[in-house]
Amino acid sequence: ADLEVLGTTPVKFFHWLAHQDRCWTATRLASRGLQHHPRCLLCDQDPETIQHLLLTCPFAKQIWHRTLDWTHIPAQTPANDTTLMDWWLRAKAQTPPMLHKALQSITLLVPWMI
Ligand SMILES: [Zn+2]
Repeated sequence: ADLEVLGTTPVKFFHWLAHQDRCWTATRLASRGLQHHPRCLLCDQDPETIQHLLLTCPFAKQIWHRTLDWTHIPAQTPANDTTLMDWWLRAKAQTPPMLHKALQSITLLVPWMI
């Protein structure tokens, strides 16, 4: 796979934003009194927090599942109560060292694509 995009600014900037929960999710728009949808537009189940969008949304889970399958990484998909960092640490422990680089790549790329 072509992973050259990893080193580029948009991916790093996105993760910096996501880490600080500064993406314009619905909950953040609401806190500013801006117009928003009460629920995630992808699943219509839960409020659109950054954790929901990247980890617990059924659509996100499906993308994680397929990507892990495609890259042959034997880690579980993100669970309901973890942050991306929690998941990454758990996934790393479940993944053989030779696949750690691939795991790191998808940990950066999947949230950015979602
Ligand atoms: Zn959702």
